[in-house]
Amino acid sequence: MDFDLTEEQQEFRKLVRQFAEEVIAPRAEEMDAAGELPMDIVKQMGELGLFGLPFPEEYGGQGADFLTMCIAIEEIARIDSSIAITLEAAVGLGATPIHLFGTEEQKRKWLVPLCTGEALAAFGLTEPGGGTDAEATRTTARLEDGQWVINGSKAFITNSGTPITSIVTVTAVTGQRDDGRKIISAIVVPTDTPGFEVAKSYRKVGWRASDTHELAFNDVRVPEDHLLGDPERGFAQFMATLDDGRIAIAALGVGLAQGCLDESVKYAKEREAFGRPIGAYQGIQFKIADIKVAVETARLAVYKAAWLKDQGRPYKAESSLAKLYATTIAVDAAREALQVHGGYGYIEEFPVARYYRDAKVLEIGEGTNELQRVLIARDLGLPGTSFGE
Ligand SMILES: Cc1cc2nc3c(=O)[nH]c(=O)nc-3n(C[C@H](O)[C@H](O)[C@H](O)COP(=O)(O)OP(=O)(O)OC[C@H]3O[C@@H](n4cnc5c(N)ncnc54)[C@H](O)[C@@H]3O)c2cc1C
Repeated sequence: MDFDLTEEQQEFRKLVRQFAEEVIAPRAEEMDAAGELPMDIVKQMGELGLFGLPFPEEYGGQGADFLTMCIAIEEIARIDSSIAITLEAAVGLGATPIHLFGTEEQKRKWLVPLCTGEALAAFGLTEPGGGTDAEATRTTARLEDGQWVINGSKAFITNSGTPITSIVTVTAVTGQRDDGRKIISAIVVPTDTPGFEVAKSYRKVGWRASDTHELAFNDVRVPEDHLLGDPERGFAQFMATLDDGRIAIAALGVGLAQGCLDESVKYAKEREAFGRPIGAYQGIQFKIADIKVAVETARLAVYKAAWLKDQGRPYKAESSLAKLYATTIAVDAAREALQVHGGYGYIEEFPVARYYRDAKVLEIGEGTNELQRVLIARDLGLPGTSFGE
């Protein structure tokens, strides 16, 4: 076994860490308070090649492995989760379906500007009526005179309303199978299509600088060739996309937990009580030691899942395991880091207050942690585990 990152991966980690500390950190509090995605930072991320990291160079990508992608997300999340989720959703959810299931022509048209960061794409699976039961999709698309006519709505869609969002790939019911089940297809909708409406931003608990909207589709017409991949397997395609996204969101959890650890160690050395630094008390040491153990263990789970994917081996169960574990420990780490900071942890000037608000959604997005348990149980061959997919 080899636990070392390659020299390239280590260099890349340094580069992203420097970017996160020098460019993102000084503005993290202000972006969070404003609740707006800073497009100048997105532009710089594009220039660094972050949005094209795991995609082939022929489409403007960097041709890096998926583990490198996870390292980038981890390093950004160590400083700011809103920017980390912007990257994760742009790559893992927005561009990946086009890369995995697009035709050559679709990739040239849509993937190239996504890789360079000139444009962002979103992924619309969840609907106001439900996310976990994704097969309950109500949005419909019917074929009429060579065009798909789409009607319905989507909820909580990340990166769907930025000034550079070019496309949203949505799931829609396009027919019925012989056994009565819905046929769900994936269709690419350019955001300038008439009838496509972006509702105003949600007021979120965390990830406040990330762009999240409800979307409405009122007789939205797109050409027939905007269908992505197999018309009968749109749902399965989305689920495959989520296998990758789960590793990436787990990397976000590791980064956030690492940020909690770093802030806690620093504060425990500086803050004094009863004439000694609080870090001299075992009660505080144990909290910090527990965060350290959790971060390292979660990182191993995430890197293993990413490595399996990079080796072309099955990784579905490992992806769920990494997502479940890393996001659970991220929430725990944020709670304990806030506690280490005492009253100041509850004040927004200290990053741990933001980490605390940002952590919770990790247990919800890209499939709730209940769903991950079902998927892990299913992988173990347990009966009755048939929800969500
Ligand atoms: C900030 C944010 C960004 C997001 N970005 C995107 C995006 O870009 N694209 C996208 O498509 N979606 C996105 N989502 C949606 C997210 O994936 C869903 O919120 C999530 O899948 C859960 O769906 P739901 O909210 O409808 O909860 P529900 O499905 O209504 O679930 C509610 C609760 O019931 C539990 N539950 C449901 N069924 C079962 C069961 N059978 N057994 C046990 N427990 C069960 C769930 O685990 C959960 O705890 C985002 C969400 C948020 C908050």
